[in-house]
Amino acid sequence: MIASDKLKRTANSALLSTLKKAGIFSLAGQSAQRRASLLILCYHGLSLDDEDRWLPNLFITPEAFRQRLQSLRDMKASVLPLGEAIAHLQSGTLPPKSVAITFDDGFYDFYRFGAPLLKKFAMPATLYLTSYYCDYRLPIVNLALDYILWKSGRMQVEFPEYGICAPLAIGTYSERQAVVWKVLSWAEKQQLGTQGKDDLARSVAVKLKMNYDSIVTKRMIQIMSPEEAREIAASGIDLQLHTHRHRTPRNSELFAREIRDNRNYIYDLSGQEPVHFCYPSGDYAPEFLPWLSDLGVQSATTCERGLARLNSNPLLLPRVLDDSTMNLLRFESFVSGLFS
Ligand SMILES: [Zn+2]
Repeated sequence: MIASDKLKRTANSALLSTLKKAGIFSLAGQSAQRRASLLILCYHGLSLDDEDRWLPNLFITPEAFRQRLQSLRDMKASVLPLGEAIAHLQSGTLPPKSVAITFDDGFYDFYRFGAPLLKKFAMPATLYLTSYYCDYRLPIVNLALDYILWKSGRMQVEFPEYGICAPLAIGTYSERQAVVWKVLSWAEKQQLGTQGKDDLARSVAVKLKMNYDSIVTKRMIQIMSPEEAREIAASGIDLQLHTHRHRTPRNSELFAREIRDNRNYIYDLSGQEPVHFCYPSGDYAPEFLPWLSDLGVQSATTCERGLARLNSNPLLLPRVLDDSTMNLLRFESFVSGLFS
């Protein structure tokens, strides 16, 4: 917006602090460009334990989220329900500093911390719910394996029984992911189902001398139950589409099945027909757009960073991913519209 490209690239906390004190945040917030833009915030999980240290791009602490809501209130941002915000965006009638809050996936931690905090601040939010795991009180297996490897504190692992016959490094996220996908491809070859894969994650935890039950009991990395989803829907949280199995097949029939299964599941929970969609893992392709239109989907959000504008494609709306790597000043700079 009013910030130059160079400023955007080089802005640090000291500079942002100076700009805020000089009233630049406030000026940006009153600009015509910000008035015509919608900030769609994207969250994933709120730490039940140490998830924000494990995956800072996916988790923030409940306290950090509370501070965000306080900032939105202090900055007099107009926090709108997503559908209403998109309608105002398209008719050019957005209120000042408009914001829509979205959470992806539907982790139990949203039920535990997110929904109560939003209620306390009387702010609306949309939860893009991926529904398959609602029926299982188990951690999502690929995330659970990654967490176990991270939490073990080891630098390398070897699992001959799962086809990893030589030590592999697990010091970084990408190294851990390589091990996770090797273990999961072994599981696929064995045709393990959801429970079988959970047993596998438990075995890996035992081999690394970790307490798997504590992860399960704390309900870390679990999708909320249907009862919990129904409860938050009744309290005003807007449940929307994120595919049933958190995947976007390139085949139109399989893609449509993901949306329909997800839609039916959500309708059963909320009594509302969901019409807004979020691409799982931010993965989208040009062929999805006509498929989504045919399925009656009115809007779709990506993980591309930016504020949504009148000329944004409604099926490719950008968002701003707020996570543990973003400090409060930078968050406020996005709300003000200084950055977009
Ligand atoms: Zn997701």
